Amino acid sequence: MGPSCSSGGVGSAPSSDQRITVRSAATEEVIGSVPEATEADVDRAVAAARRAFDDPHGWSTWEPEDRAKALRRLADELDQRAEATVHAVSSQNGMPITIARAFETSYPSATLRYFADLVSAQPVEETRPGFFVASTTVRRTPIGVVAGIVPWNVPQSLTMSKLAAGNTIVLKPSPETVLDAFILADAVEAAGIPEGVVSILPGGRELGAYLVSHPGVNKVAFTGSTAGGRAVATACAQLLRPVSLELGGKSAAIILDDADLDLQRIGQNLFNATLAHTGQVCFLGTRILAPRSRYGEVIDVLEALIESTPLGDPLDDTTLLGPLASRAQQQRVADYIDVGIAEGARVVTGGPGRPEGRERGHFVRPTLFADVENSARVAQEEIFGPVLTVIGYHDDAEAAQIASDSQYGLGGTVWSSNPERAMGVARAVETGTIGINGYIPDLGAPFGGVKGSGYGKEWGPEGLAAYQQLKSIYHFE
Ligand code: NAD
Repeated sequence: MGPSCSSGGVGSAPSSDQRITVRSAATEEVIGSVPEATEADVDRAVAAARRAFDDPHGWSTWEPEDRAKALRRLADELDQRAEATVHAVSSQNGMPITIARAFETSYPSATLRYFADLVSAQPVEETRPGFFVASTTVRRTPIGVVAGIVPWNVPQSLTMSKLAAGNTIVLKPSPETVLDAFILADAVEAAGIPEGVVSILPGGRELGAYLVSHPGVNKVAFTGSTAGGRAVATACAQLLRPVSLELGGKSAAIILDDADLDLQRIGQNLFNATLAHTGQVCFLGTRILAPRSRYGEVIDVLEALIESTPLGDPLDDTTLLGPLASRAQQQRVADYIDVGIAEGARVVTGGPGRPEGRERGHFVRPTLFADVENSARVAQEEIFGPVLTVIGYHDDAEAAQIASDSQYGLGGTVWSSNPERAMGVARAVETGTIGINGYIPDLGAPFGGVKGSGYGKEWGPEGLAAYQQLKSIYHFE
């Protein structure tokens, strides 16, 4: 069975008798259960976060260097629990374990160390010469109690960026990924982060909605679907509560006609940018834009990529494509494969049904659709699974226009052997982030979407600023 349950930072276990049962994505067997938090637990956690924030000697008043030391200790504690974490994540949501090692252990601890360095190097106050006054002191302070709502796909990585600026935080992970959230709670305690600074409340969307509107919360950081983000933004608008929204995507991978298509050289990068975590990452470029002059070649390369990528048990080190996170997600992706066929897309590889030999678990067949119009549902809607659609284009300008013709704008890639030409196309696409010949969101730069992909930034100095507030103090002499 799964790890024992405690509630991080609050100091006592959730009060409910209800439990959330967690099943393995690969075998559908029960692998653990945790107590489900109630609204009373949210009240207690927010009160604890409030006390910890308002404490005159508490976390928010610590010197940045002391907070940075605590974040580095937390990074070390997480590193010590790395294998337990990746095992929990892979078992729960089916993320192949080698990918979980990058996303769920290297990223969170690197994020903590990055923000520790940033916070300790940043002056709390800076004084600028004035225009109408003698000078102005600009003071940066944490915002207060942050409610962090995170999805099931990369729970730890998304959690870390919200811990760093001196706020106290109440986190609600997805019910599908609660086991690793308890490992995080354990690491928070071991790192000596004061009680109430981090609380973790396993529960569903109703609990999330209650937390978002809680009177004791000062900011909401929501990562999840665009539909969920809309509901959260509506609640926050009524309360005039700041919110950052990291939402869905349907990004384009633009292959220019001078791109290197040798899978030996580009296969790893192409996989990471289009199919990582079995297609369940918000920034993946799942709309592949292929030049008409090399359309057939692009199809052949993608077909070879999909067919040569090992699919199987997520706990096996050689697996790169696993099951989907839940039965609902499996059904959703299977439905989209039917939609694509009904819309007239050509199935190059994959299609309906399960992969051979995978009778249990939330597996689907990784699917490549060719001859897709950008207006098709499978090109416009976020599928969140291993389904790629290939759309033809004539020139760079048309490629950028098709890439931007989406309700979303989160990630994307440009593939070319000419860096300047690639930059030109990258500049033209309406999106929050884009990679050239590969894609990994980098810690040092702002990450976030435009349009239906949300607003607000994580990572980089801009990501820290999103969790700080500014006060201007005017001096007259
Ligand atoms: P989801 O919106 O269903 O749930 C996300 C989290 O929000 C869960 O914890 C859920 O319980 C909670 N939630 C849902 N509705 C809520 C509401 N009205 N009020 C409060 N809480 C609510 O999303 P999901 O299916 O779990 O995750 C996948 C989605 O997340 C995809 O659309 C993906 O693109 C997106 N995502 C975006 C990013 C990003 O950084 N932009 C990162 C990861 C995932």
